[in-house]
Amino acid sequence: MKIGLSVLNYQFELYQSEYEAAALRVLRSGWYVLGPEAEAFEGEFAAFTGTKYCVGLNSGLDALTLAVRALGIGPGDEVIVPANTYIATVLGITENGATPVFVEPDEFYNIDGDRIEAAVTSRTRAIMAVHLYGQTANMPTIMAVAEKYKLPVIEDCAQSHGARFGETMTGRFGTIGCFSFYPTKNLGAFGDAGAVVTDDEALAGKIRMMGNYGSRVKYHNELPGVNSRLDEIQAALLRVKLSHLPELIAERKTIADRFLAGIKNPRLILPKTRDGADHVYHQFVVRTDQRDEFKAYLADSGIDTVIHYPIPPHLADCYKKLGHKKGDFPRAESYADQVISLPIFNDMTRKETEYVIKVCNDYNGKTFEY
Ligand SMILES: *Cc1c(COP(=O)(O)O)cnc(C)c1O
Repeated sequence: MKIGLSVLNYQFELYQSEYEAAALRVLRSGWYVLGPEAEAFEGEFAAFTGTKYCVGLNSGLDALTLAVRALGIGPGDEVIVPANTYIATVLGITENGATPVFVEPDEFYNIDGDRIEAAVTSRTRAIMAVHLYGQTANMPTIMAVAEKYKLPVIEDCAQSHGARFGETMTGRFGTIGCFSFYPTKNLGAFGDAGAVVTDDEALAGKIRMMGNYGSRVKYHNELPGVNSRLDEIQAALLRVKLSHLPELIAERKTIADRFLAGIKNPRLILPKTRDGADHVYHQFVVRTDQRDEFKAYLADSGIDTVIHYPIPPHLADCYKKLGHKKGDFPRAESYADQVISLPIFNDMTRKETEYVIKVCNDYNGKTFEY
């Protein structure tokens, strides 16, 4: 059996007539940027997350970069960020000339709330929390530290659309929540797209202005802005998918529950969910100290996998000038050596799930014989 990592056309086919109607509506309207679809999506997504304002942008990276910039963070400032995240989280900081201060992850692969306080200095200007793989970070602890030091919290929700902690949805805890709608995300568009959500009207207005060439009134440019606007076609398609997101998340959770119940191999460490947190399984990540052998074994069995992520940002070539070395964040580094993401996608069949479980359970530590 051949199992790819994620299959995107299923979501299109499932709601095909709705997507086609939405796209045609925009094509025929003659209005493609800064129009009624983006405005409607912003209202619907704000309501979904429980926030007051949403501003549609071009990408998740733009959301992070403009969130940091709108908070007035720049050269000489520090932003606390998990040491195990996708590079875009860190780029949102360094694009503004600010310095990322890395903090080790906890056993749930999110920033370790108990280690944040030790990273706070007189130059700290914000805490960035990432809800990695779809599990909510330890928001009660993070918010308590933020409150103590009066620091804004930026949430990177690129992998956590719809995930809650207690009753509260990600994006609503901090000052600003940043979302990506890249096609493979749980709420994926059909191209690049992103957004921020916030309860702060002034901040929302500022980010909207920055993303529109720094102008609120056409040709009156307050700041040297950028071009980052959610276009009408993506907005119309995202409205369709958003209306189905709860059932798509439920399906992912069902598949993950099958993995959790079925995979019983002492060589593999399965994902755990913190009490009170929620997991929407953007990725189903297991860990093993024989990761590369296990990956080759799965490939030989027809199962595609990906490593999220093989090099922690502090060791990335692009961040050499930060002066970090191997051993600075041993936990993040060992996760980078051990993690592997199993296939999980909407419409993954029972047969496919059972096959992945069987192959995982048959892994005996040898390079392979399947
Ligand atoms: C995908 C992703 C981003 C970046 O989103 P883009 O829309 O691709 O720019 C940022 N942070 C995390 C954690 C992501 O997974």
